[in-house]
Amino acid sequence: ANYSVVLAENRKLHNELQELKGNIRVYCRIRPFLRGQKEKQTVIEYIGENGELVVVNPSKQGKEGRRSFKFNMVYSPASVQAQVYSDIQPLVQSVLDGYNVCIFAYGQTGSGKTYTMTGPDGASEEDWGVNYRALNDLFRISQMRESTFKYEIKVQMMEIYNEQVRDLLSSDGSQKRLGILSTSQANGLAVPEASMFPVNGTADVLDLMDTGLRNRAKGSTAMNERSSRSHSIVTIHVQGKDIKSGSTMHSSLHLVDLAGSERVDRSEVTGDRLKEAQHINKSLSALGDVISALAQKNAHIPYRNSKLTQVLQASLGGQAKTLMFVQLNPEIGSYSETMSTLKFAERASGVELGAARSSK
Ligand code: ADP
Repeated sequence: ANYSVVLAENRKLHNELQELKGNIRVYCRIRPFLRGQKEKQTVIEYIGENGELVVVNPSKQGKEGRRSFKFNMVYSPASVQAQVYSDIQPLVQSVLDGYNVCIFAYGQTGSGKTYTMTGPDGASEEDWGVNYRALNDLFRISQMRESTFKYEIKVQMMEIYNEQVRDLLSSDGSQKRLGILSTSQANGLAVPEASMFPVNGTADVLDLMDTGLRNRAKGSTAMNERSSRSHSIVTIHVQGKDIKSGSTMHSSLHLVDLAGSERVDRSEVTGDRLKEAQHINKSLSALGDVISALAQKNAHIPYRNSKLTQVLQASLGGQAKTLMFVQLNPEIGSYSETMSTLKFAERASGVELGAARSSK
């Protein structure tokens, strides 16, 4: 096969898909109740096969208390990692066809963002999240195409904490602040100073992920605390060359585990905690603004308002494909956070349904 021809065919297919579904896909995932949890009442009333979701307000009776949402997909608490990955696999594969892709997880702390993107602590292969699976898969497919295309796959891992970009793969665990270039300057390399390593198989994938997770923990005394307040970004760069024609391509896949979206009560926090909350707030709303500007096909897209949107710029909008996992905690106590997460998601997807029509 000739790379340009395959690319053109794939483009056509991808464009059709794109038109069908819009630029931004929103997949909602509801995490199960955790083992040992006694209170198992949920605010999720209904999950439809067509991406429909009905949420009930625990303190309101009847129709008024119900709100329905519709996304591209809704995963029940019973869904498993392999299934979720197989649904997004075509998007990952399209990176090898030259597309920039961004997949991120949004939700309050404890809603399963890290579970979806990385997997649980010490995950076995079955529990691997999107990051491991995507890297492994890209490598696997690139091997399959070996006789016609030569690919190079390289990885960067970064963290954005208080509007500072930090390298998670640096050998000395350095805390240096990294600069961001506009991607037109740097051929898709938004953070050229961040360490970058090649991936030549599963062992490399495991190694890199391990280093990144360790470095992420190092910068803080309480890892869970800190990691819920920073954005973590795994960036996979792919360089491809058509062996016959010599034509080349470069594309990237950003896999992002966002900081927890929960609102912090300003009257209760001060100092560092307040500063963190303000930075998170600012960057998540900047992301929301960019996505809704894209969803509405606005002429001006406000990328410059946060480090997060600057780093992701080349993979948000234009020909790029974006997928957001909206993570929900099913518990009654999370009702108001669940609603604000769903409203963020709704705004991003540009779909407004209004009040639920009936109970089912
Ligand atoms: P977040 O990253 O949003 O703070 P986590 O991914 O850490 O949340 O999830 C919180 C807890 O719920 C963890 O113990 C995690 O293993 C568990 N969990 C989340 N999603 C699932 C799931 N789909 N299946 C099983 N356990 C899950």
